[in-house]
Amino acid sequence: KVKESGRNGYRFFTELMQKEVLAVLQMENRLRVALQLNQFLLYYQPKVDPFENKVVGFEALIRWRVGPDEFVSPGEFISKAEEMGVIVSIGNWIINESCRQVREWLDNGVIDESVSVAVNLSIKQMQNSSLVSTIQKSLDLYKLPSACIQLEITEGIMIDDIDRTIKMLDQFKTMGLKVSIDDFGTGYSSLNYLRRLPIDALKIDMSFVQALHEGEQSKAIVRAIISLSKNLGLTVIAEGVEDGEQLSFLKELECDLIQGYYFSKPLESHSVERFMKTSLSNLH
Ligand code: C2E
Ligand code: MG
Ligand code: MG
Ligand code: MG
Repeated sequence: KVKESGRNGYRFFTELMQKEVLAVLQMENRLRVALQLNQFLLYYQPKVDPFENKVVGFEALIRWRVGPDEFVSPGEFISKAEEMGVIVSIGNWIINESCRQVREWLDNGVIDESVSVAVNLSIKQMQNSSLVSTIQKSLDLYKLPSACIQLEITEGIMIDDIDRTIKMLDQFKTMGLKVSIDDFGTGYSSLNYLRRLPIDALKIDMSFVQALHEGEQSKAIVRAIISLSKNLGLTVIAEGVEDGEQLSFLKELECDLIQGYYFSKPLESHSVERFMKTSLSNLH
């Protein structure tokens, strides 16, 4: 009897595993097909200098269009794409598409060369030695100065293999590409790593910004990250800023840049032109 249930348990386990493996393979195929069918698109969220009321750049955020008005959010597929390695192909597409878009906006006078688009990089891309040449090729193809593209990496990426990360970041720096640490404060980066890394900006994770109203503790954290940035000579960006109270607190502390629904949700590319023309003068 015991043996039988053991066997059943075993069979149940392998069936589950088979299902999982199948699901992963199907997902991988769906993502590869999605790339072929052009189902990915980038939305762009403004990064605003709140002292000059000026858009200094955008963050490119991927969307997967599975139906006319049906989108899968990156939270639902990026980590799977990372597990399966298909993120490298998707990531290459993101880099190229960002460059193509910047060239189009420059040519149409929507932005000037002081405005940049920031691309999120995943750990698998950072581990891939051809990343630097991929970025350079896209910049060359669209005849862009490297300052037009910035990169966002998370703390997890930096500490994965610190020496390789530093080498990669040094190459970015030589190329003139600025790098931000995304979701800062949620990972495990030691302050010692931070000192050694050739980076340009810290992005305060939105969980801290959105907890500001809860009281002194989150205020203390935000204050600390801003002052750390300033002491290290880094630009500091707050993400997830949704209301005027958060904004004025951050401005008081001289947080350099603001990103969040307060100024704008991520926009479809064709909405960016209108945003730049009309919303700019209305930025509070
Ligand atoms: P992230 O890089 O930290 O991007 C910020 C996320 O916060 C975006 O979610 C953005 O839409 C959202 N957000 C911005 N402002 C506000 C706000 O005021 N309130 C709230 N509630 N949310 C706000 P999204 O687009 O769903 O992206 C989620 C995450 O997926 C990103 O976090 C990033 O880690 C990843 N991701 C997105 N696009 C890409 C991509 O092209 N490549 C890679 N590797 N990862 C990406
Ligand atoms: Mg980001
Ligand atoms: Mg973030
Ligand atoms: Mg995030």
